[in-house]
Amino acid sequence: MQQNEYRQLVDRLNHYSRLYYTLDNPEIPDDEYDRLMRQLRAEEEAHPDWVTPDSPTQRVGDVIYTTFDKVTHTVQMGSLQDVFSEEELWAFHNRCLQVDEHPSYTVEPKIDGLSVSLEYRDGLFVRGSTRGNGFVGEDVTMNLATIQDIPKKLNRPLPYLEVRGEVYMPLSVFKELVTRQIENEEEPFKNPRNAAAGGLRQKDPKITAARRLSVFVFNIQQIEGETIQTHADGLKLLQSLGFKVIPEFPVYTDFADVIEDIHGIDQRRHENDFDIDGAVVKINNLALRETLGATVKFPKWAVAFKYPPEEKETTLRDIEIQVGRTGALTPTAIFDSVTLAGTSVSRATLHNQDFISEKDIRIGDTILVRKAGEIIPEVLKVVRHAPDSEPFQIPSHCPVCGSKTVRDNDEAVIRCINPACPATIKRSIVHFASRNAMDIEGLGPAMVDLLVDNGLIHSVADLYELSAEQLTGFERVGEISAGNLISAIAASKGRGLARLLFGLGVRNVGEKAAQLIAAHFGSMDRLLAAGKDDIWQKKENIIPGIGEVIADSLLEYLSREETRQLAAHLGALGVKMTEEQVEKGTALAGSSFVLTGTLPTLTRKQASQLIEQNGGKVTASVSKKTSYLLAGEDAGSKLTKAQQLGITILTEQQFLEMIPSDEQSSR
Ligand code: NAD
Repeated sequence: MQQNEYRQLVDRLNHYSRLYYTLDNPEIPDDEYDRLMRQLRAEEEAHPDWVTPDSPTQRVGDVIYTTFDKVTHTVQMGSLQDVFSEEELWAFHNRCLQVDEHPSYTVEPKIDGLSVSLEYRDGLFVRGSTRGNGFVGEDVTMNLATIQDIPKKLNRPLPYLEVRGEVYMPLSVFKELVTRQIENEEEPFKNPRNAAAGGLRQKDPKITAARRLSVFVFNIQQIEGETIQTHADGLKLLQSLGFKVIPEFPVYTDFADVIEDIHGIDQRRHENDFDIDGAVVKINNLALRETLGATVKFPKWAVAFKYPPEEKETTLRDIEIQVGRTGALTPTAIFDSVTLAGTSVSRATLHNQDFISEKDIRIGDTILVRKAGEIIPEVLKVVRHAPDSEPFQIPSHCPVCGSKTVRDNDEAVIRCINPACPATIKRSIVHFASRNAMDIEGLGPAMVDLLVDNGLIHSVADLYELSAEQLTGFERVGEISAGNLISAIAASKGRGLARLLFGLGVRNVGEKAAQLIAAHFGSMDRLLAAGKDDIWQKKENIIPGIGEVIADSLLEYLSREETRQLAAHLGALGVKMTEEQVEKGTALAGSSFVLTGTLPTLTRKQASQLIEQNGGKVTASVSKKTSYLLAGEDAGSKLTKAQQLGITILTEQQFLEMIPSDEQSSR
């Protein structure tokens, strides 16, 4: 490799690293990144004079650009040295033998998540931060506080404790959220690691809470009030204090056992509800760790063995086109079935035309497939084209109704825009009836097919005019199930505006957005009368959480004549077109609050609710715009910052005096 090629490789890796660490949106698979890093390391070993400080081998993580407060880590949060073969593992053992003749090791699963530090004073959780670049991370205390597995109070109050752990998204949660995202035609999370990393760096802790993250704690960084000799004893102590500790950490003195266990963890990995990307071998004796020391990037007393990803070659037999509820044509790869992560797989989404064109995927090709995060099958690349194959194009006509498709200017999606297309109608009715929308039990895809194909319904409004007699005429539909379905349809009339709006399937309006919009307007009539200014303004946050993209989609939908007719029709059929609005007080209107420390009687959640109920706003970090800092015991860096900016600091008592007393008693 020439020096200019080396520079290009550094730039390329820095680009990937920024996308991965700073934007939580990787462009290439991890093993591809690891392969390029190994290549870079080999070049740097051969040409040490080429190495510049911006090389990714010289730092942990990447630049952090966030609005969170910064936290300087007293104990550096390093990365781990990767190894990929048994030879490299034995080489690590030999290096340890030079310092101690009988080292003992722990072997732990390497959780694929996001590293955090958790700090406790006198047994109370006071601060949590991300790893950042290993020296400085971000203060994400409020977000970490939403994670149930993180104890807020320890079983025994040590004067001070800092532990390190890995925040991750359980695979069951990942699967559920991705299924919902796909149903709602939202961009699905790429893998559980990114979903967790993105979730932790949200400004609104409610969004973090919705990601249902978990944590495994795996190290004591600093401790006061206890002396510990070994890592395993430290982990046992953490268990007794109430932490959810890494699920296994056996201690071995024979290095052959270490190797055997590493393979065992790999074999058992599909049984876990968390994703792992390797196993970590660590020296158990803490004094020996000190002797071995660390480089700028990682400790010399541990290595991470990375498992190769499970990838399989197979033949692409067909590309099926499905028409979604917004008319989007989605291509799905149908291939000869292969076993991945313990289950048999024969389909994977191909997303859109750009994805197919970029990888030049053609029917008949030999393709490489794998499961992202062990769950979602994906086509990685074409290994070789089939002879006589041709580039694949999504058809220019809808495969269901035959009308011409269009490609949105700003999106990669090709759509059928015929509102009468049976595929679009069917999907939109299934969505309307789904659990989080109008929740009509018994109205799944098969029943919707039956009703639409037999001309009984053409739109969601027709559902409310169906009779049990019309249904019992069909084979497989008995009197009881017909009666149940009609009752379920009738019951759905009272769900309210938020679920109705979500059920109508307005583009870009997901469940949360529908709730915010419904709570703001209160009725369909008011919503139909709204102009853009009433929904979104450049300088003012009209409905927190609703941006211009959502506002534009909503307005476009509301302006259609058929929307107005449908709304009138549904209203006339007795479907509830309003949403109860929680009356907000005004005592704190226009004020923004930041909370810090432990309050004497209120939990943070209660304090936040009181602020919001009285018209105020809660934000995560202190800035010039903050009106008040509500500070309790053990307030951290936010207090210092508020003092520097001259922001009014309130005790709980002073805060309670600002709001009407009947509000306080309702908490
Ligand atoms: P790492 O994630 O491979 O290893 C270090 C981390 O492992 C620690 O921060 C720690 O939090 C975690 N960990 C989990 N379980 C642990 C346990 N039991 N004991 C100790 N630590 C444990 O290292 P890194 O430097 O953070 O990142 C490198 C990883 O990021 C590689 O896997 C690389 O592929 C990936 N990456 C990918 C891209 C991309 O574009 N796809 C870009 C940059 C980095």
